[in-house]
Amino acid sequence: MSVRPRFLPRLTYRFRVLGMGLAALPLGVVLHDLDAGWLAWAWVLGTCFAWPHLAYLLAVRSRDPYAAEARNFLIDSVFAGSWVPLVHFNLLPSAVLLTVATADKVNSGVPRLWLKALPGTLLAMLAVGLATGFAVDYPSRTAVVLACLPIMVIHTLAVSANLYRLMRRVQQQNQQLEELARRDSLTGLDSRGHWQAQARRQLERSTRDGAPSMLLLIDIDHFKAINDRFGHAAGDDVLRTLAALVRSTLPAGQVAGRLGGDEFAVLLPLGQAAAEREAERLREAVQAAVFQGQPGLAFSISLGLAEAPEGGDLRDWMEAADQALYRAKHGGRNRTEGRVMD
Ligand code: GH3
Ligand code: MG
Repeated sequence: MSVRPRFLPRLTYRFRVLGMGLAALPLGVVLHDLDAGWLAWAWVLGTCFAWPHLAYLLAVRSRDPYAAEARNFLIDSVFAGSWVPLVHFNLLPSAVLLTVATADKVNSGVPRLWLKALPGTLLAMLAVGLATGFAVDYPSRTAVVLACLPIMVIHTLAVSANLYRLMRRVQQQNQQLEELARRDSLTGLDSRGHWQAQARRQLERSTRDGAPSMLLLIDIDHFKAINDRFGHAAGDDVLRTLAALVRSTLPAGQVAGRLGGDEFAVLLPLGQAAAEREAERLREAVQAAVFQGQPGLAFSISLGLAEAPEGGDLRDWMEAADQALYRAKHGGRNRTEGRVMD
């Protein structure tokens, strides 16, 4: 399914008024030079000045403005095609108007619209060509060249400015999406994927430079029971409180993420002994946490610590911390376990 921007009719309206209005200039000069009849004048004036407003009405009143606007684009091309024989294939205006009409289709963002517009353009050229006897007068005199300049310059710059604005918006939205993907929305800590990417980098650094690095896995004790007894919203409060305590209690340089559920992971730029002290401080801070308006709500955590394995990968590191966490759980919970060297 293609994306259907709702702003298409309003945006297109402004550019159609501008483009069609400026197209009238070279068309008018050539029609004047050719001493064209009233029908040709009426056609050019109608398509240049009345059509943009009618097209807008058709689009906004349609049940599917996007489809209606795509049809309007095709009609624009039919008009552009019809103008070419009317100006006796005068080279510069013909080339400029057909180019602008095609570029508009490409810039509309509607897939392959320029290609779909081609048959209508050619048919209109053929029909009006037959009606006007395919009269040909290629050269463009200076006045015609001058009359082509506004559409070439103003329309092109206006479209470019608009494309620039859209590109900036896309860039900003991409940044926001990246930011969203990097954060766990409940706790504000790193998301699992972002944390893992950082952990991999830290492990490489630690292996290369020999800098100390400890992995701390944290899991809330009996969290399911907290949810069951106090409700899911209180459970969420507990998760947020733990994240806040991780941030405020553990030292700077930490890389903290929520791996999922009630499991958190923190990288600490510390040696084993210092990391154990910090883990214990966090465990005690968690025990001391109180929740306003929730009497009786308290929680504890179990922690597993592992130092960066030499030349190992993240899986080995996680596995070692997980084993330590497992021992903490099975040793009675609310405790910190470090890696036991075999
Ligand atoms: P253990 O001490 O062995 O860790 O027991 P536990 O109950 O903490 O472990 P378990 O993995 O069985 O429970 C985790 C619970 O976390 C189950 C799930 O309903 C809950 N949970 C997962 N994500 C969320 C969340 O975003 N919000 C809340 N409130 N609960 C969640
Ligand atoms: Mg748990």
